[in-house]
Amino acid sequence: MRIAIIGTGYVGLPTGAGLAKLGHDVTCIDCDREKVEKLRAGQVTLFEEGLEELLKSGLESGRLTFTEDVAQGVKGAQIVMVAVGTPENPDTGEANLTYLFAAVKQLAQCLKDPVVVAVKSTVPVGTGDRVGALIRETNPAAQAEVISLPEFLREGYAVHDFFHPNRIVVGTQSKEARSLIRELYAPMEPSPKMLFVSRRSSEAIKYASNAFLAMKIHYINEMSDFCEAVQADIHEVARGMGEDTRIGLAFLRPGPGYGGSCFPKDTKALLHMAHKHGVELSLIRSTISGNAKRRELMAHKILDAVKDIPHPRIAVWGLAFKNGTDDCRESPAIGIVQHLIKRAGVTVTAYDPKAMDNARKLLGDSITYAPDKESAAQGAHVLAILTEWPEFAEADMSAIKKLMLEPSRVIDCRFLAKS
Ligand code: NAD
Repeated sequence: MRIAIIGTGYVGLPTGAGLAKLGHDVTCIDCDREKVEKLRAGQVTLFEEGLEELLKSGLESGRLTFTEDVAQGVKGAQIVMVAVGTPENPDTGEANLTYLFAAVKQLAQCLKDPVVVAVKSTVPVGTGDRVGALIRETNPAAQAEVISLPEFLREGYAVHDFFHPNRIVVGTQSKEARSLIRELYAPMEPSPKMLFVSRRSSEAIKYASNAFLAMKIHYINEMSDFCEAVQADIHEVARGMGEDTRIGLAFLRPGPGYGGSCFPKDTKALLHMAHKHGVELSLIRSTISGNAKRRELMAHKILDAVKDIPHPRIAVWGLAFKNGTDDCRESPAIGIVQHLIKRAGVTVTAYDPKAMDNARKLLGDSITYAPDKESAAQGAHVLAILTEWPEFAEADMSAIKKLMLEPSRVIDCRFLAKS
């Protein structure tokens, strides 16, 4: 099949490269020229395990191409996926659909043949209707079936999740579009579970899923505070809860709260949507405010460990919002560092295995960047572990503590380190 994907970011790139591996002819379109040039040259523009190899094999096979030109990219495509960003509007919390509508308008202008337009971006319920209307208004002759095809991949596991999705949700009533999507995933082994639902349900499933996971993280964090107060062990409690199949073990790790480019914005967008329709989502509201407080709480714990030192040096391990990615968008680690450096006299030296460049864009010269975890810890009074990278879990902490100054405390916000 001929597929085009508009938006070559954390979703579009693994999806495009994965579809090419399945044997489809894929053109990835992005308005960022530098990105397109790098990708054409086989250089990945974001870190994901296995992505570089997948990109190179797609390029070598000739089935994966990149362009900035929408008209050229969508020519002959049976399915056009739209995977551009839908960030938070910071004033209202609602999803900003500017990029989506700009991409759809450009697409509509060059549509000649019948096509399925699959919205992969996370969009408010009802956006499919607006996308359809925009296409008709821009190009009345276009024959486009707009469907919802939300993405559920996890950053850090994007390539794995592309080839092993736990379900594919397809939002459309159109028989033709449903069979085209079946054909799209037919080469995938084992065959993925596919759920065919209405377009609005599909859009809602994405928000309902992300908000539930965010709430689960917030719940275990609150339980962690409770266990600390009553001297119970949160890990034992989480295991005891998670072994109940109705609850499940996933997302029961206490930590510095959720972050990244999805949960924070999607919970807020859901709240905004519900409010617009007169529905109160009190669980989501309290998840959002509780999660925001979590960063401050972690920063206080770290500062408390050095409260008697006039010019404390703080080492930070981990800046990405989770392990396996270089993504620092809404990273709890970045938020915690921002709280730390507000305290006069504090200096922070940080290290992350993959996210240094992205962190530098957010934190600039406000902290020092170390080339490895040992250099970050050298001469520090306290070490804060903020991202769950395996290399931190495997570190020899007694050797690390020898590099540090007294009181050489470790505040392990991810519960990783062996003391
Ligand atoms: P991203 O910011 O990494 O990538 C978006 C890309 O779209 C960028 O490369 C940008 O240059 C490009 N773009 C923007 N406007 C364009 C246009 N008009 N024409 C061509 N290219 C354009 O975003 P992302 O993280 O991949 O997320 C994309 C969507 O998928 C969002 O709605 C997000 O909520 C959703 N999503 C993301 C994840 C994730 O883990 N990142 C998971 C599931 C769903």
